[in-house]
Amino acid sequence: MSRPLALILFPAFPQSKKFLKYCCKDKRSPGRPRLRPAFGGTTAGKDFLVELFNMYIVCVDLESILTPEVWINVADRMKIKELRLTTRDVPDYDVLMKRRLKILKSHNVKLKDVQKIIEKMEPLKGALAFLNWLRKRCQVIVLSDTFTEFGNILMRKLGYPTLFCNYLEVDKSGFIKNYRLRKREGKMKAIEALRSLGFKVIAIGDSYNDITMLKGADVGFLFKASDKVRKEFPRFPDAQSYGELKSLLEKYI
Ligand SMILES: [Mg+2]
Repeated sequence: MSRPLALILFPAFPQSKKFLKYCCKDKRSPGRPRLRPAFGGTTAGKDFLVELFNMYIVCVDLESILTPEVWINVADRMKIKELRLTTRDVPDYDVLMKRRLKILKSHNVKLKDVQKIIEKMEPLKGALAFLNWLRKRCQVIVLSDTFTEFGNILMRKLGYPTLFCNYLEVDKSGFIKNYRLRKREGKMKAIEALRSLGFKVIAIGDSYNDITMLKGADVGFLFKASDKVRKEFPRFPDAQSYGELKSLLEKYI
C-alpha cells in the first residue's frame, strides 16, 4: 500500500484516520511515522481492510421511517378508532395483533379492504429520496413486523427494496384469521444472522419493537421516536429528519 493511496483514502473515508494510524505504526522508527510495506499481508491488516471497505448493511424499519403507519391509516379511513393503537402504545406485539384482528372481524373488514387502503398510501415525504441515497451507498434491508400481504404494496412504491417481514392467514371468505411470524424476535434474529456472516449492521427504528434490533446491531439510530421511547433509550441517537439521519449515517457509510 503506497503513501499516495493512503492520502487519497484519508479524506474519502471516515475510517481512514484509523487506516493512516495503522499504516504509520512502525517499530523500526518510532519517532518517524512510516508506512507498513506489506499492509494487508497480516491478519490484522486484512481485518482492517474488511472493515474499511464498506461492510455495513443498513436495516431499516418500515412504518414511521419510510411509510406512514398502516394500522393508523386503516383506522382513520374506516373510522375505527380502536385500530389506532400501535407498538408505540402497546409494546406486546402479540396482544396488539390479536386485538387488531378481532376488531377487523367485528367490523366485517376483509384483507382486500385493508389492501385497498394501503394502495392509496404513499411513502413519507422524502423517504424515497432518502432510501435511494442509502441504497447507492450500501446494502439495505427493510426489516418490518408488517406482513407480505401489506408490505409488497408499499415496496412497489419504494422501488422494491428487500423486505423481511411476516405473513397472514386468510380464510376462504377473505377475512384475516391469524398472523404468522417467520420467527419470534425476527428483526433481532436477522441482525444476528447478518453479523454472523461478517457484516456490520446499522439498524434504524422508531418504536419498542425495534429496540432489540437496535441493541443487537453494531450501530443503532432512532428516527422521530416518541418521547417515551427516546427517554427510555437515550443511548440511541434520535434523528428528527432525513437530513439528520444522513449525517449520522455518513460517519459509517
Ligand atoms: Mg416503525
